[in-house]
Amino acid sequence: MEAVVASAGVEWAARWAGSSAGGAAASLPAAPSLGDVLDLLARVPLAVDGAGMIDQIRGLEDVKCLAGARQAETTVAFDRAQRQAAAGVPATGQDAGQGAGVAAQIALARRESPARGSRLLGLATALTGMPHTFAAFRAGLVNEWRATLIVKDTICLTPADRAGVDEELAADTGALDGMGDKAITAAVRAAAYRRDPAAVARRAARAVGERCVSLRPAPDTMTYLTALLPAAQGVAAYAALVRDAGTARAAGDDRTRGQAMADTLVERVTGTPGGISGVQIQLVMTDHTLLHAGPDPARLSGYGTIPAAQARTLAFTAPGDNDLNLWIRRLYTTPGTGELVAMDSTARLFPPALKRFLQVRDDTCRTPYCDAPIRHHDHITAWHHGGPTTATNGQGLCEACNHTKETPGWTATTTTGPRHTVATTTPTGHTYHSTAPPLPGSGQLRRTSSRETPAGASARPPDGPRRPTVHILGRVIQAA
Ligand SMILES: [Zn+2]
Repeated sequence: MEAVVASAGVEWAARWAGSSAGGAAASLPAAPSLGDVLDLLARVPLAVDGAGMIDQIRGLEDVKCLAGARQAETTVAFDRAQRQAAAGVPATGQDAGQGAGVAAQIALARRESPARGSRLLGLATALTGMPHTFAAFRAGLVNEWRATLIVKDTICLTPADRAGVDEELAADTGALDGMGDKAITAAVRAAAYRRDPAAVARRAARAVGERCVSLRPAPDTMTYLTALLPAAQGVAAYAALVRDAGTARAAGDDRTRGQAMADTLVERVTGTPGGISGVQIQLVMTDHTLLHAGPDPARLSGYGTIPAAQARTLAFTAPGDNDLNLWIRRLYTTPGTGELVAMDSTARLFPPALKRFLQVRDDTCRTPYCDAPIRHHDHITAWHHGGPTTATNGQGLCEACNHTKETPGWTATTTTGPRHTVATTTPTGHTYHSTAPPLPGSGQLRRTSSRETPAGASARPPDGPRRPTVHILGRVIQAA
């Protein structure tokens, strides 16, 4: 592997030396660092003609594949080293937790969510166990996405069978070259079915256990409510919606079939014509937006940012239902930074008001790059280490991130920042900062999450809008 990287590096250096007056090749270190490689790559001059540009585009694709292969090898080596180190530590009965900790560290390093970090670790492990596919990946004959497809359809097999599929498909280096996504998937599935039909059947049975419903934003303040279901149930649910929409339209309903199906779905699930029943939705917006038709967008908890006019409509009108129970809670923020004012409590368990406060302040899991919903209200400094139950020492985390934080070697502390900031240090000593997202009206658009400690200064923006008060508006429609 070293030889491959070194020779590639020398080749770049030679090209660089050939296209300039410098003698870069002569000064290339024997064991270049990634910094050296990046520096060299950044200095490659743009090609001057079309053919040269196409060559460069292809060459850069090869660079990405080689980098991806090296990243996979490093990932597997890191995982192995961490497990070996953990094996020397007294057992805690949380082996899975230690594995999760490794994936979480890989996720932070790759600027990905913990869930994706876990998948990337699994991909790297499986891929390095398929030497022919891995060689094709390293050589740029199959890109990272197609390597992922190959792993996805063989992950249910034993390592030996997976290696067998690898041998069958890619023993001849170059066999995968030129194959598109569908061709690769078809070839891999056929080989996997032949190797171990029982494993494929077991995988189908296990997939039933993964049925779930998820919500993700769509453009124009719409959202996708998606259900992953066994095929028969999915087809039955869809057929029922089609049938009911058809009945309604035959009776003179002027909605389109799609509109009638969507409305019926919501009514069936919530049990209320028109939508929301006994379910609380929370909107955070400035007083200016709510009462004076101000333009600052609002935040709908569980969805994200919505335009001001949409927020006012949600707040003041309830289609098809007059029994809405509207309540307003005022939240005070510090001018300039927009930080929510803290509420303290001496109780260990976070009281409902403080949980609601953390929910509003943090919005989603506080781990950088993790967008998962908040499930746990966590003491940043643990209660048994003297951490108080306060807004400052509290953070919202998803379940997985809270478990990761409890594994050995992870520490967290609050630090100074423009808004509430948590510094999380991983077992390797890397520290990642997470600053609470700005509330509507604070004049900033995004959550700050980076490896760098944010500037500690809490100076007011010189001409920025000052909004000393932000209102949270909760809207509840009581069940009939
Ligand atoms: Zn999380």
